Amino acid sequence: MSSPLRLAGRLALVTGATRGIGRAVALAYAKEGAHLILVGRTAGALEEVDDEIRALGGNATLLTLDLKNRDKIDALGPTIYQRWEKLDILVGNAGILGPLSPLGHVTADAWDEVLNVNLTANWRLIRTLDPLLRRSDAGRAIFVSSGAAVSRAAYWGPYSVSKAGLEALVVTYAREVENTPVRANLINPGPTRTNMRAKAFPGENAASLKTPESIAPTFVKLAEAACTDNGKIFDLKTGDVR
Ligand code: NDP
Repeated sequence: MSSPLRLAGRLALVTGATRGIGRAVALAYAKEGAHLILVGRTAGALEEVDDEIRALGGNATLLTLDLKNRDKIDALGPTIYQRWEKLDILVGNAGILGPLSPLGHVTADAWDEVLNVNLTANWRLIRTLDPLLRRSDAGRAIFVSSGAAVSRAAYWGPYSVSKAGLEALVVTYAREVENTPVRANLINPGPTRTNMRAKAFPGENAASLKTPESIAPTFVKLAEAACTDNGKIFDLKTGDVR
């Protein structure tokens, strides 16, 4: 007898679902029976992931959204409420690398963009979706951090600052929901074979890196109603939990 699907009937919103880690997480959730709300900038790329989900027997709702569009993020909560009245799983995965250069060479526009996409957009997502996560019997919020949050390497300024801020944001949120059924955690995937990694380390042999599919099971585990972890940061490179 096959085991029951671990996310059967759950409603999950994934940002950055067009490719890389977000796409792999969306497919893994669909395989476990979740209905997906796929968020991404380009309709065509979302449709391709939608096709893959359908091929697995799943289904998805597509939401074309640039996370720099603050008003559109703020409208998400009311829109999802109208149709579903709650949200079970939020995955704040979308992110950009931004410039790798000395702080003095970073343009104000580039700084703002990295902080907006990697940090402020996730705060706005929490702000508009928290009431819906609280309406679920087991709301789960998962955000994607990076080793850069703590390594603070030279030339990685905007990205490092955005991820350090994201960790502070999500752990703060976790403390605020401690006495509710909502649970919020972060995952640091470690080096993973995606476009972003190739941009950061162009000379690297991508074949030596783990695939996005290989890290998706941790996202499933933290999305399950059975998950009791809260305010933790799971480092998939070292296996450490902070
Ligand atoms: P990719 O570059 O492959 O994917 C990034 C995703 O974010 C894409 O779906 C992209 O959508 C989306 N995105 C970027 N900007 C916006 C925006 N303004 N509005 C909406 N969506 C946007 O990167 P990864 O899969 O590698 O990264 C996923 C997460 O993992 C990021 O938060 C990253 O910081 C983190 N991470 C990755 C590591 C790695 O080694 N790969 C290591 C540590 C952390 P679009 O297709 O529209 O561009």
